[in-house]
Amino acid sequence: MVTSNFIKTIIEEDIATGKHNQIITRFPPEPNGYLHIGHAKSICLNFGLTQEFDGVTKLRFDDTNPIKEDVEYVEAIKDDVEWLGFEPAEIVFASDYFETMYECAVKLIEKGQAYVCDLTPEQMREYRGTLSQPGKPSPYRSRTVEENLELFAKMRDGEFEDGTKVLRAKIDMASPNINLRDPILYRISHTQHHNTGKKWCIYPMYDFAHPLEDAIEGITHSLCSLEFENHRPLYDWVVRECEMPCLPRQIEFARLSMTNTVMSKRLLKELVDNGVVDGWDDPRMPTIAGLRRRGYTATSIRNFCREIGVAKADSVVDSQMLDYFLREDLLDKAPLAMSILRPLKVIITNYPENEVEYVEIENNPKNPDAGTRKVPFSREIYIEQDDFMLVPAKKYFRLFPDNEVRLKGAYFIRCTGAVRDRAGNVIEVHCTYDRETKSGSGFTARKVKSTIHWLSATYAVPAEFRLFEPLILDDSSGEHFLDRINPNSLEILNGYIEPTAIKDAQPLNKFQFVRHGFFCVDSKYSTNDKFVFNRIVPLKSSFKL
Ligand code: ATP
Ligand code: MG
Repeated sequence: MVTSNFIKTIIEEDIATGKHNQIITRFPPEPNGYLHIGHAKSICLNFGLTQEFDGVTKLRFDDTNPIKEDVEYVEAIKDDVEWLGFEPAEIVFASDYFETMYECAVKLIEKGQAYVCDLTPEQMREYRGTLSQPGKPSPYRSRTVEENLELFAKMRDGEFEDGTKVLRAKIDMASPNINLRDPILYRISHTQHHNTGKKWCIYPMYDFAHPLEDAIEGITHSLCSLEFENHRPLYDWVVRECEMPCLPRQIEFARLSMTNTVMSKRLLKELVDNGVVDGWDDPRMPTIAGLRRRGYTATSIRNFCREIGVAKADSVVDSQMLDYFLREDLLDKAPLAMSILRPLKVIITNYPENEVEYVEIENNPKNPDAGTRKVPFSREIYIEQDDFMLVPAKKYFRLFPDNEVRLKGAYFIRCTGAVRDRAGNVIEVHCTYDRETKSGSGFTARKVKSTIHWLSATYAVPAEFRLFEPLILDDSSGEHFLDRINPNSLEILNGYIEPTAIKDAQPLNKFQFVRHGFFCVDSKYSTNDKFVFNRIVPLKSSFKL
């Protein structure tokens, strides 16, 4: 799964030196939103490593901040991990350890390494100092162990209001690492928790809770993103001073960032809450749920994560790279079909009325084993609007007056005229066909320069097509991302689709529509009466791996 990287090297050493017999990793999302493709990188890394080294990976909900958390997110996250193809050895909740964490905090107080502080947030900022200036001790730093024990118990018992007191570690107010200047361990929050209900009104801070969670679970390698590098001394301090029997090792790697999107649950939630998108699973969202609904496959996402690898330096990945892996995955898997996205009616004036014939079209020109299918052909057909020009541009070889083209799998047709509406728009094209030119008949007397696709107007099934552009425009304006929303990120077209190909199509089934790209049946809007297709990606791109 995982190509060579610096984390793998560390694990190999740890196994070789006998430091660990089995490695244990965890994926620790906070259930405050849906997972995105950045989380997929972390999932593939954590689970990929333990698959390779025969270890185990736990899915742990880091639910220590009840204000933002919700069971909806818990369920969505479980679903996404499973869909990506990974099975957690165990599903656990940080909130299950609240009692143990409380005991650890009491232990720190007893050792004189934690104190209850009454400074306001503003005062605390002021006392903390800056990168160039040391902090100064809080006046509450010298409280006695007894006093601290009593106050902390009262905090737990709900005797104080939110924000009036915190528990802080007593480390070093002059440390060059600001994270070590007496960081907060516990805060008061009278908030209902999705798991523990009203049992607690004090909650541990991430920097205290996370190392303890890792230590309690016996995590050997705790992988997190680079922004936690400066927190590592605190991480190590917590597990050491709380005298945890197991000392996990925190290792940081670069977060995934991608062009044309935002990559944070908090920002993605703003898109949802502001109605910019139609929910967390909107096909334009970089969420796993959105990518899945759009039609990306779990294989394509896993291959993408493997290719981007793991590094120590942040970089931005071109969003087209994921499209590359989608095409690669679907090229031989998605059945081919013809669709007309922007229909223009063509009447073949010398073709008998009410007649229908079935032409055979290959299911996959690159693979004869894929067989053929029968496609109905009749006097009235639809072609794409841009396959016709009344006045042809230079080097335009498709249909125009007097020109002849091949209808894919059927006949040559020659344009004899066009009907226009009052505004001058072409609304119908007239052609004649030549019976001798049928595909597969061996006709060679004349050649045409273009083959276009088509659908019988009588048999084509109406369908909606949704085409996407990036949701967020990358530019250097520095504007807030909500001011950079691409107004053209969704285009809805009403066209037609080949009847045979989609007969049994189910939500999330994928197709390759000739000349248009890879499409997926939308799981929300598609019905038996009207198919709705999301375009996953167009056929080609300029992107090269
Ligand atoms: P967000 O801002 O999206 O909520 P987060 O880091 O706060 O991100 P968590 O739910 O805490 O999200 O993350 C769970 C795990 O996923 C963490 O180990 C985190 O480092 C990792 N992770 C989150 N975003 C990315 C990303 N863009 N690239 C790689 N790993 C990520
Ligand atoms: Mg977070």
